Amino acid sequence: MAKGGDINDASGLSRTPIYGVVEVSEEDHIAKALAFARANGLKVSLAAIRHSMGGHAFDDNALVLDLKKFNKVAVDAAAKTMTLQPGARWHDIQNMLHPRFAVKAMQSTDIFSVGGSLSVNAHGMDHQAGSVAGSIRSMRVMLADGSVTTCSPTENTELFRHVVGGYGLFGVVLEATLDVVDNAVYRTSREIIKSDDFPKFFAEVLEPNKDIGLFYGHLSTAPGNFLKDMIVYRYDKVAEEPPADQPAIGEPGSVGLKRVIINLAKWGSLFQELKWFTEKTLEPKFETCTVARTTAMAQGEACLVTRNNPMHDSVPYLFNDLTDETDILHEYFIPRAAYNPFITAAREDPAQPVPASAQCLCAHRPQGGCGADLRAGAGLFAGALHQPAGRCRRQCQDAGADAGADRCDDQAWRAVLPALPAALYGQGVAGVLSRTAGLPGDETTL
Ligand SMILES: Cc1cc2nc3c(=O)[nH]c(=O)nc-3n(C[C@H](O)[C@H](O)[C@H](O)COP(=O)(O)OP(=O)(O)OC[C@H]3O[C@@H](n4cnc5c(N)ncnc54)[C@H](O)[C@@H]3O)c2cc1C
Repeated sequence: MAKGGDINDASGLSRTPIYGVVEVSEEDHIAKALAFARANGLKVSLAAIRHSMGGHAFDDNALVLDLKKFNKVAVDAAAKTMTLQPGARWHDIQNMLHPRFAVKAMQSTDIFSVGGSLSVNAHGMDHQAGSVAGSIRSMRVMLADGSVTTCSPTENTELFRHVVGGYGLFGVVLEATLDVVDNAVYRTSREIIKSDDFPKFFAEVLEPNKDIGLFYGHLSTAPGNFLKDMIVYRYDKVAEEPPADQPAIGEPGSVGLKRVIINLAKWGSLFQELKWFTEKTLEPKFETCTVARTTAMAQGEACLVTRNNPMHDSVPYLFNDLTDETDILHEYFIPRAAYNPFITAAREDPAQPVPASAQCLCAHRPQGGCGADLRAGAGLFAGALHQPAGRCRRQCQDAGADAGADRCDDQAWRAVLPALPAALYGQGVAGVLSRTAGLPGDETTL
């Protein structure tokens, strides 16, 4: 155990003093750590990749269990399941499952741990699979007293219901058995629609068509078109299984270009318009079609990919190399029926803390924009805000607002979220983000 020191999350904005860190690679380490905590009256926190911002994964003076190396994975092809330790990351899991199988439910990016994903009941691009809860066959969980129990949708259901989405508050997930699905072949396409028409589009086009395996929506944040248009990306199934010669899954391309465009978009409306222009017109030209041309020809020369391709996105273009800035992702989970009022309110009242135009959340009226994504899945909508914290802090300080400066960091969303009409948002916020050099100021001392 590394004793003392601080810990931080991926934003680098949540430095927290802790009792110490236990690096877990075996179940016994967890049992011993819990016994030690009970004997010494310590709080225990569970941490994996630490992309949940604002201290979800660690408490003041807690004994932190670092689960990243507790990460074994075993696939049962006959049962179409995989049994994993919670530190396993989707990215590595996909590399193991490919080319035959794919993950059933996960986030729209692959950088997270299974434990961190089960604990927030994450969802992603497969609107039919829904959130990860629906892919769990069973879990083994260690409770605070050190006892180990199994729970599933049919066994110990109350514990199951609490642990999934329970942010590590009800027990340590030791192991989970999850469904895997076929690595189906999809035809990719995209369509620009009015964002106000999205609920109708979802109900009439996306939801009834069971061959649409994945989709997401991306709303315009260009000032001239703010939240008015959206690109809907869809993946229509054309075959249950991939061709035998399927290559390894590639990494996202054009990373430098995408990063430059995101950075430029922080600096004013001209660049925000450029960002929307490239998303609309240039992005399709860079699309990688991974399934062989012979198969594509049979599909009218469509661009074909396997399920693992769009789901294998480690978003390297979101990792910010600027030393004085942190990009924060804000996600708003909104009931489907509240989508239009939410978007309308955001569009008409820029003082709302909705993404995009909120360059500095310490300002009452957001200036310019930092770019935003709105991903839509299964009636839930997530907004992404890229917030240059360093610059915001300076702006607030220049305005003589020290308190405001604090609100420019990862606490900002907490300060402003209650201002949203409660009826317009649902479960709350899962925030996160990316910062250049990993986790600065981390569990240093001993
Ligand atoms: C770029 C980006 C995109 C995102 N996209 C999506 C998305 O599409 N859909 C979505 O739903 N979310 C999304 N998120 C949010 C993400 O799903 C959560 O932040 C997730 O918890 C991060 O996983 P992690 O491994 O970093 O977990 P951590 O931040 O390390 O931990 C998260 C929580 O899980 C608990 N925990 C960890 N391991 C265990 C365990 N073994 N047992 C019990 N509890 C445990 C921790 O205590 C903590 O409360 C996104 C985040 C980012 C940064």
